[in-house]
Amino acid sequence: MEIIRGYKTELDLNNQQRTRCWQHAGCARFAYNWGLARKQAAYAARQAAADPQSVKIPTAMDLHKALNALKPTAFPWMYQSSKCAPQEALRDLDTAFSNFFARRAKYPKFKKRSKGIGSFTLTGAIHVGPDWIQLPHIGKVRLFEHGYLPQDTHLDTQDRKTRKKRKQKHRTGIGVTEPAHYLSATVSEHAGHWFVSVQVKQIVPEPEPATGESIGVDLGIKTLAVCSDGREIPNPKAMRGNLGKLQRTQRHHSKKQKGSNNRKKSKQEVARIHYRVGCIREDALHQATAQMTAKAKPISERPQAIILEDLNVGGMLKNHKLAQAIADVGLGEFRRQMTYKARWYGNRLYAAHRFFPSTQLCSQCHRLPTVPLDLSVRTYQCEHCGLVLDRDLNAARNLVWLYTASSAEINACGEIVRPIVLALAAVSVKQEPNTE
Ligand SMILES: [Zn+2]
Repeated sequence: MEIIRGYKTELDLNNQQRTRCWQHAGCARFAYNWGLARKQAAYAARQAAADPQSVKIPTAMDLHKALNALKPTAFPWMYQSSKCAPQEALRDLDTAFSNFFARRAKYPKFKKRSKGIGSFTLTGAIHVGPDWIQLPHIGKVRLFEHGYLPQDTHLDTQDRKTRKKRKQKHRTGIGVTEPAHYLSATVSEHAGHWFVSVQVKQIVPEPEPATGESIGVDLGIKTLAVCSDGREIPNPKAMRGNLGKLQRTQRHHSKKQKGSNNRKKSKQEVARIHYRVGCIREDALHQATAQMTAKAKPISERPQAIILEDLNVGGMLKNHKLAQAIADVGLGEFRRQMTYKARWYGNRLYAAHRFFPSTQLCSQCHRLPTVPLDLSVRTYQCEHCGLVLDRDLNAARNLVWLYTASSAEINACGEIVRPIVLALAAVSVKQEPNTE
């Protein structure tokens, strides 16, 4: 199967390259803001016009053409950078607007230099060796992490040797048969570090369906995930642990005099803590999802089906008390990773319907309590059969039970035929870039 996969790794830039990256990021930011101003003007004109349909809102393509026409006279400095940087920035702007109209995001804002150097995207000839990446206009950049990025076909003989060695060690977990094809590279800055994230098209063998025991996974806030076989994945509580530190640093930062060197320094400190929190969260989620799909194990030990609850993450985020905790564990991201990893490693992924009472049912006798269980009770006690079990574990077991009880009813297409099993739905896989 063909997959599009993302890889992100840190760049080891020299001074010249760093300057070029600054220039490109500046170009991208300028184009974005310029395009946003044009779009805003168009929307304002549309509102004022008698016939709204007569006012056309410029698309990324229109804006790119207009910008190119202005370049020689108004912005000659843009020629120093790749034309991709403004082009992709304008595309991002289009996405920002469509996300806004789909109510997935807030209204696009102007990008301020003071908020960060930002990023830029390059397409075209991108080549990768064991410890370098060649980017258009930036040049051959060294990578801190050796052998992480899959290599492409354009290699000289010396690299081919190392590539052979590398092939045996490649740690993606899915056998890569064909050389990778690089679609794009986005270079970004975080807390003083520069990263590249690349989109790679790879042909990988279709995974054999996993045949191991199915598992149910109950996601929570106290523990990140509880598995029906008793495994618990603790929540790193990345944010909470660092929250005090972050608040303290932010408070110090706000008291520094504007424009002073100390203010600059404390700002970097705040950025570093944010970055660290992000890293801890990302790492915990990847480890958890990798463990659930059991990618390191043979097919006979990988769970054939993984059943999740259908958590309404968006709805829960509106509840302010829960919001911080949920944003902290990244439940939405957990689900997203499970979706693509299950596809890569041959597991079938299901989500129980929102109204399946996974926390209320008894996982032994499958009866509901007469009085609904309060959410604060951490231990499940069955009034019918006397089962005493951890609440989350009970829920995880119910999810597996739902699968086994209804798997006979799931026909070959994975569709559900009987109303009793409407509680279970296969999670559809969108082909979108995934970063591991
Ligand atoms: Zn019971």
